[in-house]
Amino acid sequence: MRENLVSRQFWSYVLLIVCLCTLAALFGSTWDWTPGAASLAVLAVPCCAAALTGRRALSMAIAFLSAVACFVEAWIRLHLDATSFTVGFPLLAAGVLLFTNGIVALRTRRWQRENAKLAVQNSDRPDDVVAPTGNNRQSEMTPPELLHSSRIVPLLSEPMDDTVDQAMLLLTLQDISRRVSSNLDLETLIPTIISTAKASLGCSECHVYYWNAREGSLSCALPPRARDNFKYTPRTNSGMAGWVIENRQILTLRDIEADYALSSILEEEPHLPDAIAPLAVGGELLGLMIVDQVEQDSQSFLKLLYILATNYALGIKNAQLFKRIEEMARYDGQTGLLNHASFREELEDAVKESKSNSAHLTVMMCDLDHFKKLNDTYGHQAGDHVLSAVANMFHAVFPEYAVVGRYGGEEFICALPHDDVERAQEFAEDLRELVASQVYDFQGEQLKASMSIGLAELGPETSTIDDLTRAADMALYQAKNSGRNRVVCHAHC
Ligand code: GH3
Ligand code: MG
Ligand code: MG
Repeated sequence: MRENLVSRQFWSYVLLIVCLCTLAALFGSTWDWTPGAASLAVLAVPCCAAALTGRRALSMAIAFLSAVACFVEAWIRLHLDATSFTVGFPLLAAGVLLFTNGIVALRTRRWQRENAKLAVQNSDRPDDVVAPTGNNRQSEMTPPELLHSSRIVPLLSEPMDDTVDQAMLLLTLQDISRRVSSNLDLETLIPTIISTAKASLGCSECHVYYWNAREGSLSCALPPRARDNFKYTPRTNSGMAGWVIENRQILTLRDIEADYALSSILEEEPHLPDAIAPLAVGGELLGLMIVDQVEQDSQSFLKLLYILATNYALGIKNAQLFKRIEEMARYDGQTGLLNHASFREELEDAVKESKSNSAHLTVMMCDLDHFKKLNDTYGHQAGDHVLSAVANMFHAVFPEYAVVGRYGGEEFICALPHDDVERAQEFAEDLRELVASQVYDFQGEQLKASMSIGLAELGPETSTIDDLTRAADMALYQAKNSGRNRVVCHAHC
């Protein structure tokens, strides 16, 4: 339907240009005007009118056709008047038409943008309160997310349409709300959001995207393996998604089709979803919910989408906060390694498992050499830089099953389940060599570092966590005392 309208408008313009071009040739011939002048006179108005529609493709096509028409007029005149064909005047007329069209199109687009912004600002004004109707005083503020279109304002004072079973709807919403707020794991929360949205909105496509404000980017909330084929990819700085990100309001395909100020979106993106809702909490945009292929587009759809999006946003925010707190409690902020307490918990589990399976387990204590001197010479920031770089090396050298933590200061601890002390010693040597061979570039300074490592394996003399770490610590002291930058195994190993 949308494409039909656009193409009908386009072909009407084309027909008009063709007719006017012929008319211009006749005028020019009758009054003996310079070729191009009559075209300029009759085509200037439709050319500007096309630019005023705000449709970029249409406006450019008409401008091009008008420019061509100037030459066609000169060519027709050549046959009518038997005069010689000159390019200069038609070229000048074509240039004036293109220039005028460009200026008008630019002005129109700017005006449309300002109008759209004004409409949004107006919709957020406090006087947009739903008017009290009869005894039913609705003094609450209308949710601003629903107010961007004047079409929606009256809907809010109306009850849901008759086809909606209100009691059932309330129960469903309560159930969704409970499921969403009690799920603090983002991995399972997003599929729950998608399935409940599909069921309650009656749509076969629903997609959730996370918004990264720092990078200004969107990323699909589902892992690649769980995504299905969806032909719409949201863009952050233009189109439908760009509008929702900028205005933090629900936008539907219907709004775009009905609102003149939004019509340029149709030109930017040929395939648009039925609706995009912002997932926002207290002014913070967390993501977008994209809904498509809605089975029945009722007036209740918009209200339901608003309620669901608000609920989902709260659920996502809760889960994100929970994840963040969990990470902060578990990992060291500077190095990203497990902190002392979390490492100890992991080690407890590893010791239990090794004992029950009679498997090897080796613990490694690592300490950077003369780190105080490095700090004193180059500053603590330089020290921090080296510390983070060394922390990353553990992941590069050690196998995935290694449990690595920051013991404190410039000391690290690592548990290698399944590995005996000989195997662990190989890893330790690799790490020591890497730390010592690296040149750490910090603000132009080329820094060097080295590391001493002590190892101890779980055994009869080192059967508890405390004994095991103490033994590794003693080996580390031996490494320090025997010259540093070396790996030493505990005597009982
Ligand atoms: P050794 O070879 O005997 O281990 O000498 P060292 O200087 O490394 O050991 P010492 O225990 O004397 O000093 C440790 C230094 O590590 C002191 C402290 O300033 C530094 N340090 C501890 N944590 C951090 C940190 O997070 N950042 C920075 N820059 N320095 C740290
Ligand atoms: Mg130390
Ligand atoms: Mg040290």
